[in-house]
Amino acid sequence: MRLTVLGKSPAWQDAGGACSGYLIEDGATAILLDCGNGVFGKLRQRRDYTLIDAVVISHLHADHFFDLFPYSYGLLLTPRQQPVPVAGHQGTDAPSRPRLIAPPGARRMLRSIGNSWGDGTLAESAFRLEEYATESELEVGTLRLRFATVPHYVLTHAVEVSSAQSDRRLTFGADCRPNDELVEFARGTDLLLVEATLPRPERTGVRGHLTPGEAGEHARRAGAARVVLTHISDELDAEWAREEGSRAFGSPVEIAREGETYEL
Ligand SMILES: [Zn+2]
Repeated sequence: MRLTVLGKSPAWQDAGGACSGYLIEDGATAILLDCGNGVFGKLRQRRDYTLIDAVVISHLHADHFFDLFPYSYGLLLTPRQQPVPVAGHQGTDAPSRPRLIAPPGARRMLRSIGNSWGDGTLAESAFRLEEYATESELEVGTLRLRFATVPHYVLTHAVEVSSAQSDRRLTFGADCRPNDELVEFARGTDLLLVEATLPRPERTGVRGHLTPGEAGEHARRAGAARVVLTHISDELDAEWAREEGSRAFGSPVEIAREGETYEL
C-alpha cells in the first residue's frame, strides 16, 4: 500500500499548495482520501482522475471536499468521457463514474452548493454517491475502509484504510480536538496520519484541533508504529512541529510534505 500526500494544508492553502487530499494505491486499486481545495490539480499530476476507484471524504468542511466540484466537471466534460467522438477522442459508452463515499449529510450539502448556481445534481451525476455510517465496513478493490467518529466542529470521521493483500493498516485522524476515540481506533496502526494544525491550543477554550505535541501524544497512546503530522501550514515552523511531536511521541515523527510518498 502506498500513500502519497497530494495536499496537507489546513483551511488555507500553502503557497502553491493544496488542502487535505491523500492518494492511496494498493496494486491496481486507488482511492483519494479527502478532496479539499487545490487537490484535483495535484491529483492530475500523479494519476488519471478517471482511474480512481473511490473518493472518500472524512467530513464536510471546505478544505476536505471543495474540489469535488472541479473533479465533477472533469468527469462530465472531458472530451474522452463523451459518448461520441470529440476532439480526436473516440467516444465511450462506459464513462468512468467513481464511487464517492461520503459522510451522512453529504448529498444534501452537495446539492445545496450545486443548486446555488442551478446545478444541484452535479456531483451525483459525476460520481456514484453513497453516504457511509460510522459502523460501515466497506471494500474498494483490495482496500478495506472503517470509520470512527472523532470530536470536531461538525460530524467527522477518522478513516482506517487497510490492504487485504498486505494486511498493512493506515489510520487517518481527520480533524479533531484532543480525544480518546482516535487513540482507540488507531491502536497498533502501522501509520497514523494525524493533524497538527495549531501552534497552541485555541485561546477561546473551544477546542477543534490538535497541536503537534498533542498529535504526538495521541500517537504514543495509540502505540502507532509510524507517525506523519499533517494539516499544518507552511506558516508554521516545520522543524519546531517535528520536535514537539517527536518529544511527545517518544520517537521521531515525520511532517507531511506535498508529493511525498510513504510505502506501507
Ligand atoms: Zn475540519
